[in-house]
Amino acid sequence: MEISLRRKLSLSYILVVLICVFLISFLSNFFLERQFNNYVIQTRKDKNKDIVSSLENHYNSEGKWNYKVVESIGIDALENGLIISVKDLSGKIIWDATIYNHGQCENLITHMSKNMTKRYPNWQGGYTENQYFITYNLNKIGVVDIGYYGPFYYDDNDLIFLNTLNNIFISVGIISLCLSLILGIIIAEGLSRSISRVMNTAENISKGNYKERSSEKSNIKEINRLIATINNLAHNLEEHEKLQKRLTADVSHELRTPLTTLQGHMEAIIDGVWEPTIERVQSCYEEILRIKRLVGDLEKLSKYESENLVLNKANFDISELIKNILMNFENEYVNKNIEVVFKSYKQVIFADRDKITQMIINLISNALKYTQSGGKVILTINDLKEYIEINVKDNGIGISKENLPYIFERFYRTEKSRNRETGGSGIGLTITKTIVSAHNGGITVESKLNEGTVFKISLPKYDN
Ligand code: ADP
Repeated sequence: MEISLRRKLSLSYILVVLICVFLISFLSNFFLERQFNNYVIQTRKDKNKDIVSSLENHYNSEGKWNYKVVESIGIDALENGLIISVKDLSGKIIWDATIYNHGQCENLITHMSKNMTKRYPNWQGGYTENQYFITYNLNKIGVVDIGYYGPFYYDDNDLIFLNTLNNIFISVGIISLCLSLILGIIIAEGLSRSISRVMNTAENISKGNYKERSSEKSNIKEINRLIATINNLAHNLEEHEKLQKRLTADVSHELRTPLTTLQGHMEAIIDGVWEPTIERVQSCYEEILRIKRLVGDLEKLSKYESENLVLNKANFDISELIKNILMNFENEYVNKNIEVVFKSYKQVIFADRDKITQMIINLISNALKYTQSGGKVILTINDLKEYIEINVKDNGIGISKENLPYIFERFYRTEKSRNRETGGSGIGLTITKTIVSAHNGGITVESKLNEGTVFKISLPKYDN
């Protein structure tokens, strides 16, 4: 069942408050009332003892029963809800509350019974009597029967106290419930308003409006993270879309130029405008080679970018490998009059030799391609304990700040390199990056336009 955040939060708050109020009322009623009952029983016992000691004290001081004093003790007890009857040892009544005022005694018991059934409708209590001996110089001189409503009773003040307490609990419960409802609604409202706005933005982005951004500000960390993530996602999608468009344009442009040239040449030959001389056929052949190279690059890319790029790793000396590759390029850099510097020292690494070869070829061929005659390319290897770092530095045409973030993207070529007709299709660096990532390594580039470029690659030395 789906439920809105607002409703869910409000309901949760109410539920928590209800549980709290119920628990507080239950526990307080249970423990407080039990404690209070014990207190009432204890007080009554104390009162009984007081009556006995008052009677003894009076006899002690006078050495005989004084009817008036006994009566005043009896009346006092009656006012406290106790019905007493004092007798001497022979059983002769000295003072008896029921004789003194039978009606008041009856009223007292009825009143107590009413108080108790008001509080506990199923209360089962009744008139109870305790008997105590009265002693004088350690000799029994009489007995006092103390009657009361038992096992315990609440007088009017006790009832007022308990009812006030109950009312306080009920009021606190109602106030907390209202407060929690208001608070729940306010918090849920704030939360769901922010989330709804972010949701709208996300929905717009999902419809393809990649320019859409959320300007929502929240004081909740998670919502701010959500906003940042969605904005980031939109930015990436926007960039991706741009790249995709450029990519399609690039592929068609790359293919159209050689195809148009080929078409023109062929038409001219078919129409008899041109003689199919060796030079003309040769030129057509070169265009075909260009197309083939592009298709080949595309093929290579799909191979390296396929998700299950299998690495056949082994230990080999990377320095040795770079030296061999440089030997193959020797003709090229000597012809172009570029100085290549590489100080080699043995550095063994556990990696896929073929793929690392491809990666280094790409970087060296780029350095040579984009460096003018008379320039310099420096290769270095640094040992970084767990990693090795390979740097390929040139003082060639460089890459502008605007182009730098895109050079690892498929088919991406800077305007400058395109104008130079260097023949590349903008796939080499994409493949390089894929190989580095597959080895759990990293690649970075620093470049300044017209000053040069340095590619830094770090590769783990051991199996990981
Ligand atoms: P390409 O086949 O066009 O060289 P890459 O993917 O290897 O494709 O490189 C992408 C683009 O990055 C190049 O077209 C070029 O603009 C730029 N680039 C790469 N290496 C260098 C470099 N060493 N100096 C200047 N620009 C470079």
